[in-house]
Amino acid sequence: MTRAVLASRSATPAVTDVEIGDPGPGEALLDVTLSSVNYKDGLALAGNPGVARVDPLVPGIDAVGTVAAVGSGVTDVAVGDRVVLNGAGLGETRHGGWAERALAPAESLVRLPDDMPDERAAAIGTAGFTAMLSVLALEHVVVPEDGPILVTGASGGVGTVAIALLAARGYTVTASTGRPENDASLRALGATEVIDRAAIAELGKPMQRAIWAGAVDSVGGATLANVLASTKWGGAVTACGLAQDSALPTTVLPFILRGVSLLGVNSVDAPLPLRKRAWDRLVSDLDPALLAGVTRTVDLAAAIEVGAEVVAGRVHGRTVVDVRA
Ligand code: NDP
Repeated sequence: MTRAVLASRSATPAVTDVEIGDPGPGEALLDVTLSSVNYKDGLALAGNPGVARVDPLVPGIDAVGTVAAVGSGVTDVAVGDRVVLNGAGLGETRHGGWAERALAPAESLVRLPDDMPDERAAAIGTAGFTAMLSVLALEHVVVPEDGPILVTGASGGVGTVAIALLAARGYTVTASTGRPENDASLRALGATEVIDRAAIAELGKPMQRAIWAGAVDSVGGATLANVLASTKWGGAVTACGLAQDSALPTTVLPFILRGVSLLGVNSVDAPLPLRKRAWDRLVSDLDPALLAGVTRTVDLAAAIEVGAEVVAGRVHGRTVVDVRA
């Protein structure tokens, strides 16, 4: 039996013993060291059926650890490899990383470089990995000389890492937040301007003054519509989240009058070459000290509390889960 958090639609989430089983064909069994708390984990804890597709479920869309055993047909990883997994159904369609052991699809495991300790990989987690995917998508279209990049949901997991990654590549970053108390922290990450998210939260005109060369958006809704409407000619906006709303009340005008691109980002099903590329760039671009400054570590029991806080938009930065504590 494995110590884990178990979430169920019929009971309060709790730390308990769970049967994980042996790896089947194409699977690897991980000795998990660390996981993290993501927005989706908060939704899984609340029994959201869009995330928790099986019931009961061990949450945790991230897992960092060592391969303990592999099933038949697994050739990409071997016993003893230090690996990270983000998404790939973990904590949604199968038991996730908030456990001392986890079964994972081997094809989605990324071997961790020697200079990427477990703690940093977990602090990055799905949120940081998604921020990296967003920057990789954006930089195909927008270069630093094009102008400022807006990061919405700036205090959150995706937002904080996106700010640091963009600033490291020379982009001028504006952070949009509903929490002015995080102003100094967002500037320390690399934002040169911080705006009140209320200024862009209500739906405005379909075309607005062109300000942004690009944006990394994790909130969706009217905010994303306003960002598109105020993006400059030829700019690009990445969309990965729905912290405000899943609806997108926009028009085609930003696309047909300014050639703006809307770039979707999905970390869950990212193919292995893209995962590897993103992790390589996270090693080279993300300043460990900046990440550590917005990261805290909790045990399994405390992770349950933090999950609800993340969904309520009260957590700043990243929360690592020490599954053995
Ligand atoms: P966090 O909760 O850490 O951050 C979200 C941030 O959004 C909050 O910190 C807050 O920032 C802002 N926010 C919250 N509520 C609202 C609101 N009503 N209106 C406007 N802004 C709001 O979550 P993550 O950063 O981990 O994830 C962000 C989103 O991205 C989630 O929807 C998540 O599901 C999605 N996601 C998608 C992935 C994918 O593969 N597509 C992968 C990872 C995440 P502030 O206080 O600064 O305003």
